[in-house]
Order: sequence, then structure tokens, then C-alpha cells
Amino acid sequence: MFDTEYSGYMTPGARRLVSRDGVGHTFDSGSFALELLLTGGPPPWDRYELWHTPDDLADWLAGSHLAAELPLATGEVRVTEEELEAARKFRDALFRIAPTLALRNDKGKPMPGVGPMTAADVELVNAAVGPVPRPVLDADGTKVWELPITGAQVLSLAARELIDLIGTDSGKRVRMCEGDNCYLLFHDTSRPGNRRWCSMQRCGNRHKVGNYRSRH
Ligand SMILES: [Zn+2]
Repeated sequence: MFDTEYSGYMTPGARRLVSRDGVGHTFDSGSFALELLLTGGPPPWDRYELWHTPDDLADWLAGSHLAAELPLATGEVRVTEEELEAARKFRDALFRIAPTLALRNDKGKPMPGVGPMTAADVELVNAAVGPVPRPVLDADGTKVWELPITGAQVLSLAARELIDLIGTDSGKRVRMCEGDNCYLLFHDTSRPGNRRWCSMQRCGNRHKVGNYRSRH
């Protein structure tokens, strides 16, 4: 479906993806939790794995939605092997949870190779809710974050966001791109709530071209 291109960071959380046909486009999941789905997953999505080492995860965070709020540059976030393993398990659960939500909203299609959300997935998300990064004052009285930020704190933020997404009206805005063979999931944060595509450059455009062809 896509590979992530490393061409530097743009807006935190907006990722440059390259489709199998070589077309590049910018995709914003509208949510940190859903952004995790871009980093690999259970088979067959493991071929997109980006988190091979704890440092991979730490580096990836620097371009994520979280980076809009937190200092996540290299050295400011510390991830252990255990935390990497926990993040991968969390992501696996998310692979079942997010498509289930989109389907529930009638805005999705079954995700290949992935089953529906289970009670164990919900338990795993609940268990990930723990301490979050601590705001503190430095000697001059300026608000800063206590460093380093840990992998567990990051996962806790993802779990809290996901619980807000699932457990509130925002959950109705979890959708999957309507493009054929496109399984990108996003939180529709547009005011009218009518976002249909991963990106206009990619599936939005394919749809327009398809419509044009079928009319002419
Ligand atoms: Zn798409």
C-alpha cells in the first residue's frame, strides 16, 4: 500500500507516503493513535515495519502528532526494548480496533488479514493508561517538560487519546479511506465531517479521474 519516505518532517503528524505505483502523497491521520498504524503491524502489514529498534521508535516520534506539544528530538525521548515490544502489541490491538470502529460507522471495509476488536485488545489499551510526561518549571519559571520522556509515557498518551476516540462522539469520526485497496484510517477533524480520502492528491484524485472516465 505505501512506504514512508524520509524526506524530513513537515507539519508534525503529516506523513509523506509513497504508494506501490510510486505516487507520493501527504497523509494526516488526524490522530496520534491512528498514526501508529503507519509504522507496520501484524502480517501482512509487517512488511511496512519501521520500528526495528528502540531508537527507530524514538526517532519516529520526532515527526509525529505528539511533536506539536512535546520535545521529542533525539535524546529527549528514551525507549527501552520492553517499551518497544509493548508499543508493537499496542499497535497490533489498534489494527483490530480502528477498522472495527470505521466499520461500525459504516465508513470502512474489512482490513485484510486482521480480525475484529477483542476484549483482550480493550484490556491492553486500558492497561497502557499510566503516567504521562510531567510539565515542570525551570529555574527561570518557564514551563518545560521533564526529560527524558519515556516510551511508557508516550504509550500512555496514545492510550488516553484512543479512549477519547472510542469512548466519545469523536469515535463516530473514525473512518477508512474510501479508495479501492486503500486501508488508511483517520480521525476526520474537518468541520463538516465529510472527509472521504486519505489525501486529495492520492485517492481523491483517483476517484475524480474514475468519475470522469465513466462519464466520457
Ligand atoms: Zn486512500
